[in-house]
Amino acid sequence: MTTIAHFIDGRPTIGASGRSAPVFDPATGAETGRVALADAADVRAAVAAARAAQPAWGATTPLRRARILNRFLTILEARVDELAAAITAEHGKVLSDARGEIRRGIEVVEFATAAPELLKGEFSENVGTRVDSHSLRQPLGVVAGITPFNFPAMVPMWMFPVALACGNAFILKPSERCPSAACLIAGWLAEAGLPKGVFQVVQGDKTAADALLADPDVAAVSFVGSTPVARHIYETATRSGKRCQALGGAKNHMVIMPDADLDQAADALMGAAYGSAGERCMAISIALPVGKATADALVARLTERAEKLAIGPGSDPASDMGPLVSKPHLERVRGYIDTGVEEGAKLVLDGRGFVRSGHENGYFIGATLFDDVTPRMRIYREEIFGPVLGIVRVDDFDTAIRLINEHEFGNGTAIFTRDGGAAREFATRIQAGMVGINVPIPVPMAFHSFGGWKASLFGDHHMHGAEGVRFYTRLKTVTSRWPTGGRRAGADFIMPTME
Ligand code: NAD
Repeated sequence: MTTIAHFIDGRPTIGASGRSAPVFDPATGAETGRVALADAADVRAAVAAARAAQPAWGATTPLRRARILNRFLTILEARVDELAAAITAEHGKVLSDARGEIRRGIEVVEFATAAPELLKGEFSENVGTRVDSHSLRQPLGVVAGITPFNFPAMVPMWMFPVALACGNAFILKPSERCPSAACLIAGWLAEAGLPKGVFQVVQGDKTAADALLADPDVAAVSFVGSTPVARHIYETATRSGKRCQALGGAKNHMVIMPDADLDQAADALMGAAYGSAGERCMAISIALPVGKATADALVARLTERAEKLAIGPGSDPASDMGPLVSKPHLERVRGYIDTGVEEGAKLVLDGRGFVRSGHENGYFIGATLFDDVTPRMRIYREEIFGPVLGIVRVDDFDTAIRLINEHEFGNGTAIFTRDGGAAREFATRIQAGMVGINVPIPVPMAFHSFGGWKASLFGDHHMHGAEGVRFYTRLKTVTSRWPTGGRRAGADFIMPTME
């Protein structure tokens, strides 16, 4: 059985820890390999290689760094199918969805290839008499990314293209459940000409993550995952003076106004709630139809569509929705459906009994729909991360806004309406980081920035776009005067004004 390796100091290695964990194919439940799990010594080896490599990489001109990213882009474009197959084999999502996440990642690489433009500083002439000032952005040094299982390619690509473009060395610790994509990416970056030690992968679990957090040579940590872990990462990293951005969980609401195109809204909800089996941080898990007529019509449309949903292995082009990622997660999602029933929500569609013939040991679950969900229920408050959509019926627009704003999470949200005034009001008043207007999953493009509010993000910077460049660089301002005459003789003891 193959062991999925780390990529340290320019080569794959299984490290010295002797620890490993099984990797499963979610469509069959079969163990398909093992992944090496790094210990503190493996992490230390990666950090030492990164430290050795970073000064030369940081001194490489941004244009040359961009050229390497451009070559990586060409390699990646040619191997999208190979990467997508690796993702589907470990995550379970359908191949077209895996290709979609790679495309979104590619956009960030494209953005990062503008490194010389992104790193342009500012210059002011004559801030004082014959005194000039300029500002520049310099790399942080060695930075780390700790990523979740649900986007094995896209989430790392939110981070490392920008970090590398800015001159940092980057260490990726991917999810131990979906480890292969990171290895492929590391090999392709090396093939593109990236010097060894500049991009490395340490496979592992909490031990590896904590070793990165504890290492004094790691200057910054980008994290994406669940909220309890995001909080732990943020608190631990910042306590030792590291810069940190930690993106957490979500419970995204979609408001459906009475004037919305209900077929468009129902189609959008199907993809947003059940696409990738609901394992997306931008999935819609709560629908807020405004008024009884809207709610009744929406439930009828969703029921009709959900019954036609094709659930099967991600590698089957006929599948709309694949399995969940793991057996424990399948049991967790089933448990939430039990809880919803006990809490008194109306179970309109029950996915618990779904079996895919020929794949009886796969982690499949059917699309599930609850009506009459209330804000006090756990299935409303907590992130389920499965294909479970709850309908909370509201009487008016203001109640919809209040519910969203009172929720613990604030990652994304959407409104479906034909009323421009209502849409504008929603975008202004809503407390969430990403807002869609007739767009169910408003993931920003690479040249904007991605991130939520409230318990969906700890830290000050969103990812990629201008915020990404700020996160991965430090600002320096240089004030200069040249001895070309005009200086008053003698020392100045007052606060310098440079007039
Ligand atoms: P997770 O929090 O279990 O794991 C994320 C990463 O942290 C993994 O690399 C994992 O190995 C590591 N980790 C796990 N427990 C740890 C611990 N105690 N200490 C240190 N490191 C630890 O998340 P997951 O199950 O892989 O991913 C799903 C979660 O990620 C969901 O909550 C989802 O909403 C969230 N997510 C958020 C976004 C976003 O942009 N906000 C995007 C994708 C996923």
